[in-house]
Amino acid sequence: MYVPAQDRYETMTYRRAGRSGLDLPAVSLGLWQNFGSQDPYETQRAIVLRAVDRGVTQIDLANNYGPPPGSAEESFGRMLATDLRGLRDELVVTTKAGYRQWPGPYGEFGSRKYLLASLDQSLRRLGLDHVDIFYSHRYDAETPLEETLGALRTAVESGRAVYAGISSYSAQRTLEALEVADRIGLRLLVHQPSYSMLNRWVEQPDDEAGGRSLLDVLGDAGLGAVVFSPLAQGMLTEKYLHGVPAGSRAARGGSFSPTFLTEEVQERLRALAAIAADRGQSLAQMALAWALRDPRVTSVLVGASSPEQLDENLGALERLDFTEEELTRIDEHAVD
Ligand code: NDP
Repeated sequence: MYVPAQDRYETMTYRRAGRSGLDLPAVSLGLWQNFGSQDPYETQRAIVLRAVDRGVTQIDLANNYGPPPGSAEESFGRMLATDLRGLRDELVVTTKAGYRQWPGPYGEFGSRKYLLASLDQSLRRLGLDHVDIFYSHRYDAETPLEETLGALRTAVESGRAVYAGISSYSAQRTLEALEVADRIGLRLLVHQPSYSMLNRWVEQPDDEAGGRSLLDVLGDAGLGAVVFSPLAQGMLTEKYLHGVPAGSRAARGGSFSPTFLTEEVQERLRALAAIAADRGQSLAQMALAWALRDPRVTSVLVGASSPEQLDENLGALERLDFTEEELTRIDEHAVD
């Protein structure tokens, strides 16, 4: 029988999600990949239990995680019903809807019909009566924001979700969403964008948003940023410095094509790894600490294919501070 580590809350750093009452772990675990029915359950279980033992309270899911879609929620639901039974209220369980989940016109995007049906399906797979955060996974240009955000409000008001969030909305779309949310009485807690040393769009001024960046918009509105792919799907680790190892995400194909690993990218990675070594960190640890250097980033959402990877990544918390000189050196090799 699994007994969680007694000291699990002593070494984790928690950060407040924007202007809210909710603390999230600085490093959270996402189950997008490696948690499908085709992946060994015992490995999945070992990763999740290690996370729980180390104070990682937030587990991030979406309707379509697996593969196949839905199977990551089923797998995590099995853990909630067994090893994690009794720990539900110590965890922040999140899910999302927005991408294709079932055939036909009601199986993706942002309609009320899709979002609420998807949430009900997610709850069944997870074996839960509520999730902690329910997200609109992507902006839907064909559906009024009133409808999409109204569905999130219903999710919260009906008790199926404790909080609501949006993911990958641009700065301008986020401003629009905030205005609509305010009007309909919905409080958005967090925004989930991609962010890493190789992908800095959240920092860049958005002309449509009056020159403000997404992080500016979130900071002003009091929403936390929970950032995904902070390791650029594994590129910001040492595994690809000398080619593509067998079994890696790049070797498996799918979301990560080895064509991302151009000579230019590899040069950046080697230079960044050298800076990390000077700091006494691995490249992965520095990449996570770097993404957390901005207080508007509440949590970095990592993936892992083994408990050892997760342990290495959590080691980032041992050194989160940067000197100005280090940041300047990183800027020379990170993307603009
Ligand atoms: P990362 O950038 O953290 O990449 C994770 C992958 O990198 C792992 O699966 C592993 O791949 C490799 N890796 C991780 N740690 C190490 C290490 N220490 N050493 C070597 N390799 C390592 O994040 P993801 O792209 O997985 O995204 C994280 C989470 O963000 C997702 O699970 C999901 O919850 C969320 N997400 C949200 C999206 C959205 O639209 N809102 C979109 C995408 C993700 P390998 O298999 O090669 O070992």
